[in-house]
Amino acid sequence: MSQNVSEANLLAEFMPHQNVVELRQKIEELIRNIDSLSSVVQQAKNFAYISNLIGRWKMLTCKMNSNGVCMGWKMPKEVADEVKKNLGDSAVIDRDGITRFNVNSAFYVCALCPIYSPRT
Ligand code: SF4
Repeated sequence: MSQNVSEANLLAEFMPHQNVVELRQKIEELIRNIDSLSSVVQQAKNFAYISNLIGRWKMLTCKMNSNGVCMGWKMPKEVADEVKKNLGDSAVIDRDGITRFNVNSAFYVCALCPIYSPRT
């Protein structure tokens, strides 16, 4: 005849070593941090998804978009370098000696753009 062993039936002969208790607390804290990090990552993904949707629509309907190049913004070299560093080389393009946003590639820029102007 088998007998079920439940936690209530177990009695520890010795207290867990302090190191084991601390290790368990650290693991539990790590698990909590991973859970909250997952939530932040999910929120960032949601934000990127919405930015892409809205950015693409604004890019396609903005009168400042000239064949995929934004004519609404100009970038000094130091700004262009910073944008390239953060968004990648394809985010900027040279048009007639002026550095501008390549919105064909970086259409998410349009999502946050305050000078959007719809085509009429
Ligand atoms: S929405 Fe802004 S960034 Fe996009 S094309 Fe228009 S002016 Fe340029």
